[in-house]
Amino acid sequence: MRHVAVIGSGPAGYYTAEALTKQFGGDQVQVDIIDCLPTPYGLIRAGVAPDHQSIKAVYKRYEGTSLSGNVRFVGNVLVGKDVSIDELLEMYNAVVLATGAPHDRPMGIAGDDIPGVIGSAAFVGWYNGHPEFVGLAPPLGIDTAVVVGVGNVALDVARILAKTPAEFDGSDIVGHALDALREHTLKRIVILGRRGPHQIQMTPKELGELGHLQRAAPIVDPADLPPESADAALEPGQRKSVTHLRSFAANHREAEVIVDFDFFARPVRVEGNGHVEQVIVERTALNEKGGAVGTGEEYTIPCGMVVSCIGYRTPPIPGVPYDEDLGRFANDDGRIAMPNGRLYCVGWAKRGPTGTIGTNRPDGFAIAELIAADEAESVAHEGGAALDKLLAERNVRVVSFSDWQGIEAAEIARARAGSPREKFVAIDEMLAAIQP
Ligand SMILES: Cc1cc2nc3c(=O)[nH]c(=O)nc-3n(C[C@H](O)[C@H](O)[C@H](O)COP(=O)(O)OP(=O)(O)OC[C@H]3O[C@@H](n4cnc5c(N)ncnc54)[C@H](O)[C@@H]3O)c2cc1C
Repeated sequence: MRHVAVIGSGPAGYYTAEALTKQFGGDQVQVDIIDCLPTPYGLIRAGVAPDHQSIKAVYKRYEGTSLSGNVRFVGNVLVGKDVSIDELLEMYNAVVLATGAPHDRPMGIAGDDIPGVIGSAAFVGWYNGHPEFVGLAPPLGIDTAVVVGVGNVALDVARILAKTPAEFDGSDIVGHALDALREHTLKRIVILGRRGPHQIQMTPKELGELGHLQRAAPIVDPADLPPESADAALEPGQRKSVTHLRSFAANHREAEVIVDFDFFARPVRVEGNGHVEQVIVERTALNEKGGAVGTGEEYTIPCGMVVSCIGYRTPPIPGVPYDEDLGRFANDDGRIAMPNGRLYCVGWAKRGPTGTIGTNRPDGFAIAELIAADEAESVAHEGGAALDKLLAERNVRVVSFSDWQGIEAAEIARARAGSPREKFVAIDEMLAAIQP
């Protein structure tokens, strides 16, 4: 029997567990998926937008993996604090880091620490009920919010700000966020992109949604669009996205809330006395390599909040080689150089924050193959029994998969009408829901 510890219960962790089971057979491998939260599924629960329940439904596949018999969920255990990587390497044949990239990449401009400048991890975590961000209280009694970035996370943030409360029917947006959004006074949401419409990283389905909101409408300046003939060179998905932008440019409609695409614009500083009052933006142009260069022309956007959606970093774990420049674990195709080997990484902790949920699947399968190839050097390990003993000695309250199912049942039971669940947003509340 091989024992593998997978740290992180997001898509990458679950696909790795599934791949290990297929690689070795369920009776030849025991996988412990360890997560710092009492709840599994990583960004499926805490990142993917609450009004995109069909995407979140992928968790059912991971639930199947958890119930397959050779995979355990070991929740509420923070690796690096409750147990170290060295200790896990003593206990398990292999350890796989699937810890994602939960920290915002900072904008690195003057004023980015003024209250009201918020990273997307925090903002998204707030409306999705991640325990770390429950107390965020974003300033919503404002006219204008600026969203920095032109990826799907920026789209999520803009759409959540733009929707009416009724448009959240059927979603699992947490109650505190729905209440706060119900009161907001926003009239304008500006999406700032350093480059142009051809360089966006927004997928067509998600971008198209912006055109069908009840009280909000998107605006694109036709002058920002390249000649239509240039679209032919784009790959089909990107061409569809740009077609949406062309339609937004051609069909301006009056609306209570405007989602204003401001291309060729980069924030250079945020200003305000104790809270955000304005962003100073520099006009950019594309250079011959397709990069954005400043033109020196600056203008001001008065606003009360800035949400930066410009990427994420993986926090380091003591003792694990780390690439500061790339903001993730130093690795060679998932293998992390350690004195005795046997440490690997997958998903965002390996590649950085790119790709879709499905992109994490091949990572899991590749690592399962690497672990199989490296196994010649391995010796017998005690696995989960040793971990359980150590965590009990340290008085760590471990949350099992059946405990999680208890939390889930309680969340479903307290859901508001039409919503799949009302999440617990504090770890104490989650643990209280499963006290005997
Ligand atoms: C806002 C947002 C929206 C998205 N929407 C979509 C979408 O609609 N469609 C799509 O295809 N993709 C979407 N994605 C991308 C998708 O969520 C990622 O590809 C995927 O979640 C990455 O998986 P992961 O397992 O690497 O990391 P995560 O999902 O982040 O999982 C990491 C897990 O590790 C745990 N962890 C971290 N550190 C430790 C530690 N030290 N000890 C123990 N546990 C730890 C965390 O609690 C977490 O559960 C979105 C991403 C974001 C940020």
